[in-house]
Amino acid sequence: MNQRRRRIYEGKAKILYEGPEPGTVVVHFKDDATAFNAEKKAVIEGKGVLNNRISEFIFERLNDLGLPTHFVKRLNMREQLVREVEIIPLEVIVRNIAAGSMAKRLGIEEGTALPRSIIEFCYKNDELGDPLIAEEHITAFGWASPQEIDDIMAMTIRINDFMSGMFAAIGIKLVDFKIEFGRQYEGDLVRTILADEISPDSCRLWDMKTSEKMDKDRFRRDLGGLVEAYQEVARRLGILNENDQGKPSKPTLVKS
Ligand code: UDP
Repeated sequence: MNQRRRRIYEGKAKILYEGPEPGTVVVHFKDDATAFNAEKKAVIEGKGVLNNRISEFIFERLNDLGLPTHFVKRLNMREQLVREVEIIPLEVIVRNIAAGSMAKRLGIEEGTALPRSIIEFCYKNDELGDPLIAEEHITAFGWASPQEIDDIMAMTIRINDFMSGMFAAIGIKLVDFKIEFGRQYEGDLVRTILADEISPDSCRLWDMKTSEKMDKDRFRRDLGGLVEAYQEVARRLGILNENDQGKPSKPTLVKS
């Protein structure tokens, strides 16, 4: 790794470096896993490589649909080149099936299909533990404008429709997921684009037949087998060969 480039930010699961050109950033996916606002931590070898690949796959499909995202290209096993944005301080959560904090908060049994998809907003603030907020808070405190909220809602619905279908086609239920958006400045213009990542770290994915969890709940709930589950997601998406484990391997001699 080139150590001379400037580190812009280090988060829980990713590091951002200055990109090769102005307006670009390099995202490095770490193997670190955190849960419960970083109270629980571990290093899970191979996770970063898998999330980089899975997120690349999904963002590329979304770019193909004409949905604006920050993704430019994958650079290597752990890194991707993205457009620089100013992150809108919201975690946009989409729920198709009750699970996690919503099941708890509203006393709904996990696994109950919701009458329709529900979009929730949390204020992105680790110190406060990303509290659930209403649109009123977003506009009152100026975290995003009404136009930005409209754009975010419209894009979020498209992303959920696309991803639900994509996962259903490979026998996986998209229970819920979290996405983030950013502002891309182009001269006088500002546009809202999808940023961050979409991976089994930020989605709940259940096997349709067995209801087996194929996401970060394996870590949150001490179920084990996280890398194997992420590998299975990647394999079903067609992005891993049977013998490609998604783990960094030592250089091997290739006979000519
Ligand atoms: N999520 C996330 N980052 C967060 C909070 C939630 O990626 O900081 C994802 C989580 O993986 C799940 C969805 O958002 O797919 C809904 O999470 P929930 O509100 O149920 O919170 P949790 O139970 O994970 O605390």
